[in-house]
Amino acid sequence: MNPLTHDSSKTLPVECFSCGSTNVSSTTEVEHFQYGDKEDVAMLSASVRVHHCASCDFSFTTEDAAESRHESVCRHLGVLTPKEVREIRDVYQLSQEEFSKLSKIGKASLARWEGGLLIQNQANDNLLYLLTFDDNVARLKERAYLRNTKITFSPKYRSLKGDDLARSQREAEWFNLYPAAECVG
Ligand SMILES: [Zn+2]
Repeated sequence: MNPLTHDSSKTLPVECFSCGSTNVSSTTEVEHFQYGDKEDVAMLSASVRVHHCASCDFSFTTEDAAESRHESVCRHLGVLTPKEVREIRDVYQLSQEEFSKLSKIGKASLARWEGGLLIQNQANDNLLYLLTFDDNVARLKERAYLRNTKITFSPKYRSLKGDDLARSQREAEWFNLYPAAECVG
């Protein structure tokens, strides 16, 4: 749970959804809920704040409860939570756009995962996990640099010398220029 969000929501008076009164008290309760369908169903629990209006006797939860349930689902699936996804960018001080350029993860997808609207699949979660290590980020930056400088040979050519290297680079360039023709053949 984000401590900033948590603190601010605690100090803000909660308005009753039903009658608009601010005569609302809050308690933290453990909520159990079902996740998944018939064959792959699980009972999960989340710690949520439940608000109760003394004026009209209405009980309700707010956005932070939805976040808490979402976090619980992410833990169940073994993937990074929205907060953990956001933290990756925060550590490197990258905007969504910059992180998207580096990782090639679509900016819209990234925004949905960070906002808790969608959960990333396991493959993307693995990529995100690897990017929590700064040496992996450095590797991607190096790769992007090599791409931009049009050096197209791959690491396996690094041991080649002289004519062999030049020939390999020509082949690599030709392949990059005509990839479709190569694939059709
Ligand atoms: Zn009320």
